[in-house]
Amino acid sequence: MSKPEPILVCVAWPYANGSLHLGHVAGSLLPPDIFARYHRMKGSKVLMVSGSDCHGTPIMVQAEKAGITPAQLVEKFNAEHKQSLQQLGVQFDLFTATSTENHKKWVQDIFTVHKKLGYLVEREGKGTYCPKDKRFLPDRYVEGTCPHCANRQARGDQCDKCGKTLDPIDLKNPKCKTCGATPETRPTKHFYFTLPKFEPRLKEWLKDKAYWRPNTINFTNNWLKEGLQDRAITRDLSWGIPIPLAGYEDKRIYVWYEAVCGYLTASVEWAQAHGKPDAWKDWWLNPDTKSFYFLGKDNIPFHTIIWPAMLMGYSEGLLKEKKLPRALNLPYNVPANEFLTLSGQQFSKSRGIGIQLPDILSKFDPDTIRYYLSANMPEDKDADWSWDDFVAKINDELVGIYGNYVHRVLSFTQNHYGVIPDRDAPTTRQLEVLDKIRETAGYAAQFIELCEFKKALRQVMALAQYGNKYVDDMAPWALVKKDRKACGTALNLGLQLVKALAILMQPFLPFAAQRIWESLGEPGKVAEASWETALEDIPAGRKLPVPKILFEKIDPARLAEKPAAAAPTAPTPAAKPNNVVPFEDFQKLDLRVGKVLSVEPHPKADKLYVLKVDIGNGETRQLVAGMRAHYKAEELLGKHVALIVNLAPANIRGVESQGMLFGADDGSVVSVLLPDKPGLKVGAKIR
Ligand SMILES: [Zn+2]
Ligand SMILES: [Zn+2]
Repeated sequence: MSKPEPILVCVAWPYANGSLHLGHVAGSLLPPDIFARYHRMKGSKVLMVSGSDCHGTPIMVQAEKAGITPAQLVEKFNAEHKQSLQQLGVQFDLFTATSTENHKKWVQDIFTVHKKLGYLVEREGKGTYCPKDKRFLPDRYVEGTCPHCANRQARGDQCDKCGKTLDPIDLKNPKCKTCGATPETRPTKHFYFTLPKFEPRLKEWLKDKAYWRPNTINFTNNWLKEGLQDRAITRDLSWGIPIPLAGYEDKRIYVWYEAVCGYLTASVEWAQAHGKPDAWKDWWLNPDTKSFYFLGKDNIPFHTIIWPAMLMGYSEGLLKEKKLPRALNLPYNVPANEFLTLSGQQFSKSRGIGIQLPDILSKFDPDTIRYYLSANMPEDKDADWSWDDFVAKINDELVGIYGNYVHRVLSFTQNHYGVIPDRDAPTTRQLEVLDKIRETAGYAAQFIELCEFKKALRQVMALAQYGNKYVDDMAPWALVKKDRKACGTALNLGLQLVKALAILMQPFLPFAAQRIWESLGEPGKVAEASWETALEDIPAGRKLPVPKILFEKIDPARLAEKPAAAAPTAPTPAAKPNNVVPFEDFQKLDLRVGKVLSVEPHPKADKLYVLKVDIGNGETRQLVAGMRAHYKAEELLGKHVALIVNLAPANIRGVESQGMLFGADDGSVVSVLLPDKPGLKVGAKIR
């Protein structure tokens, strides 16, 4: 068998001016992780790189608002991005930043080479200059009256009121945002990258890219059709990579030109950090290597036109100077994703629509987030994050099908055998399990290689579904009483399927896959197992540890607290087994009859009430309860409820809750009232 080719996984660089949100995860962070995890299991040499995009005006503006330096802002968000990614299980070989010395050095070299070959030309244009501050102003630093809608606080780049894109010289009555002086228009020189010079080469290169996703191809072709234009690559700024020429000290290389170089510079940084300074060449100069670029659709032309053109120009210069044996590798594929929306609305930082990664990671198991986004990935069209659908998919599919199969086989075998039973004379029906595994491993692999992750996941879920059917057919609970040996064989194959489900699911759900792995008594990490070992016989006789619980069902009531802006914490550990509470634990609960004295809406959450409840003996408790969708305030007022009074107080979105209502909840109907029997005493113990 030939060795699989090396794979370079390039992940679009998130901008370091805020937390990562689910749009980033669905669009460009989760797909490459699934892809890279799979290829590592296939034995490929994989390098996955990215980092924080650190330069540009928005970062300056934000740092100024926060009263810190741009460098401090960038450092803060780079550290936070790294932590969130680690908690989500996104496994980079290197997640760096464009603020490194290494990145600067390479970008300046690329600039120098491009300039030497005439791919960078200088042109004079007009800039907005503040005579008082003695500097050119970035567009966002100029404010004035919008020429379209007369909004007096329009910015030089855009009017927030009418949404029109502006140029600072369009503004009436312009003012410098920093000092209030009236700016003037002055000539300023900038470098332009001569994109049209690459058009014939780009068209030639794109000829055999019919295997790209349709949206990637269409976007790219539209750009070419509209005609390529020279693009300014420098700005009058103080924050960014300096231009390596004398006389340009107050200008910087513009972020779009330098951030894309990060894929190359990060590969170099990774190689140096591993003490093999030339190792980056395995990914950039080896003709067998395939490079994949994962990004959101808004980034397509930067990766299918601009970056390839920049690479072509850079290689040309290095080849001329005999500094390279061959040209640098161009992208092999650019699987761009569409957008994730939130209940139908576009994620938007400025409008405050979105779910930030640190928040959701503090509330939910990272694999539940990964599962929902994988099952609902915006591969060919926009996809929507809906909380109800999230709960339904986790409870019905992840817990109900996948978790259920794994748990029932593991716990039954553990209870009745304690070890992996022998596979002794299996029936045809039982051997069919192996065919199913082989088939699923093959299809899932094909789909992942084609970057069709949703379909790959569906294959693995179908295998779990098949597993449940298999257990029902085998009925081990009956068989074990009739024929212990035959039952052992049935379970042995059932466990083989459990192992396959750990391996084939590892790219999608790395944490759960590892828990299954350990429950099977497998040593080491499932992430380091080979894809092919899904079919390798499990060793009969090996002791089975007490199985770990894979997932807990999500209580829909928890959604009431979903947007809480909690500080990032460790992911919620998987909780206790389904529904089994030891009797003693239940007896510890102190349940009382209470009477609702007042009902107020929670000030910060539209699904919550704040209740005051009389619990007898002159004591009143304050409770926060997710009841607003189920009861009007007057339906609760003055009524009897059951509540648990011996719980530690909890802070629920800023309001203390000193107890918990006890009631019925079948997922849609929620009931907390007690039958109103005359004489029912407030404070009475419920047993
Ligand atoms: Zn306007
Ligand atoms: Zn000024």
